[in-house]
Amino acid sequence: MIHPTPRLRFAPSPTGPLHLGGARTAMYNWAAARALGGTFLLRIEDTDQARSTDASLQIILAGLRWLGIDWDEGPEKGGAYGPYFQMQRLPLYRETADRLLASGHAYLCYCTPEEIEVGRKELEAQKVGFTGYNRRCRTLTDEQRREFVSQGRQPNVRFRMPDARTMQVHDLILGDVEVNTRDFDDWVMLRPDGVPLYNFACVVDDIGMRITHVVRGNEHFQNGIKQRLLFEALGAECPQYAHIPLILNKEGKKLSKRDADTNMLDYRDKGFPAEGIFNYIALLGWSFSGDRDVFSRDEMVAAFRIDGIGKSPSKFDEEKLRWMCGEYVRRWTPRELLQRARPWLEGAVPAAAFASHGSWLQNGVACYQERIAILSELAGKLGWLFAMPPLDEAAQKNLAKEPAGKQWLLAYAEHLAGCNLPPSWPADRQGVDDAVALPTRKDAAEPACAFWTPAAIERDMRAFVERLGIKFGSFVHPLRAALTGTDKGPGLFDVLFLLGKTACVERLQAAAR
Ligand code: GLU
Repeated sequence: MIHPTPRLRFAPSPTGPLHLGGARTAMYNWAAARALGGTFLLRIEDTDQARSTDASLQIILAGLRWLGIDWDEGPEKGGAYGPYFQMQRLPLYRETADRLLASGHAYLCYCTPEEIEVGRKELEAQKVGFTGYNRRCRTLTDEQRREFVSQGRQPNVRFRMPDARTMQVHDLILGDVEVNTRDFDDWVMLRPDGVPLYNFACVVDDIGMRITHVVRGNEHFQNGIKQRLLFEALGAECPQYAHIPLILNKEGKKLSKRDADTNMLDYRDKGFPAEGIFNYIALLGWSFSGDRDVFSRDEMVAAFRIDGIGKSPSKFDEEKLRWMCGEYVRRWTPRELLQRARPWLEGAVPAAAFASHGSWLQNGVACYQERIAILSELAGKLGWLFAMPPLDEAAQKNLAKEPAGKQWLLAYAEHLAGCNLPPSWPADRQGVDDAVALPTRKDAAEPACAFWTPAAIERDMRAFVERLGIKFGSFVHPLRAALTGTDKGPGLFDVLFLLGKTACVERLQAAAR
């Protein structure tokens, strides 16, 4: 047998955004297609016309693009097996339904919703061995049929499920499973208006689009049974199914809006790195290798196998997601970090800060590189760099704690003012990278700071504090308060380095007043 080229699909309904579960399904199909050297396509299941919107579709596509999940066929791409929107494929469903009616695998059902409901209740009372639709229209006489037609009833097309057939099915994740068709209803395939229902459209399209493997949430396992029978009725080969377990929250309950963002674009807009989210989602049911959690898209593709997906539900853990995102933030160069963070910084920091390749600002954001997971977090942290913020409660306490604290700060301000650096440097906030190695002026009598670098500032500060005869620990708390208005933030020597001599002196004097 010639093995067909692997073809996998993601088949979202554009009735809402791309959420975590959908993103994972898309990713696993994508990774499998890439790993197998096959094709990954997008099919838009837009038959729920009341709830499908173009806005949702755009959000789904943008979410996929943001995660780096690209498709070979589908919206915006086209392809040889389109159209890729189900509402553009209605003639195909009608033709296929006619074939199934002719072969006896399907029948026309004229029952009204009220009759179906009455029948359902009767079935329940009788305990006949199946429930749901009472299958009245399976056995209509020609006369009954004519009567319904003359009443103007519009028929649904129903699939005739085999009576009490035991089926052994193989799922790439769940393994061998036995089911009995008695547990299934004769389900509606096509409505009178020609719009198909999910299971039917899905099979017609999986056949038409030559789908070979289907990875999807295991809420579709039962649908898979109906679909297998439909493939059989149509004489087509069924794709290999892989039903992935649910994603649960930390408490082991079904993931809800309260546990995670339901729209992938919310993660984007908050400044989570796409690579981090991608990497985290990949691990919700699959593992890369025993000792490594951080891997690239390419590494995932190289290692991915559908049957490597786990059988047990995965748990969404916000803390791990943040850790993962932080791992990516730390890998960037400061320049890259600034570039990526720029959309969140614009408006939050003065426009001039981006001048001169933003090198000063670059050093500013780099101070936080070890401390953040989300780029938007930067915006609220950098204010002290541009203007002295009001002292928060902790800073006020730190400033008041040592009775002589203000004297120390004044003395240090004086010391810094005498420090042998151009007094305004780096007032223009430019060229800090070059200025880092700014040497002491040769003619200086007693250089206080040989270099204005964090390390040199520290050495000099320690010597100063020793001369003062106080504890270093007692000195740094009021100092940080006076310079940044808070007790948190990046390393203190980085703070001084970034503020520059003039601003430091000014802030210390102001605090002492
Ligand atoms: N539109 C279906 C869903 O979003 C697709 C299921 C499938 O992959 O067959 O759940």
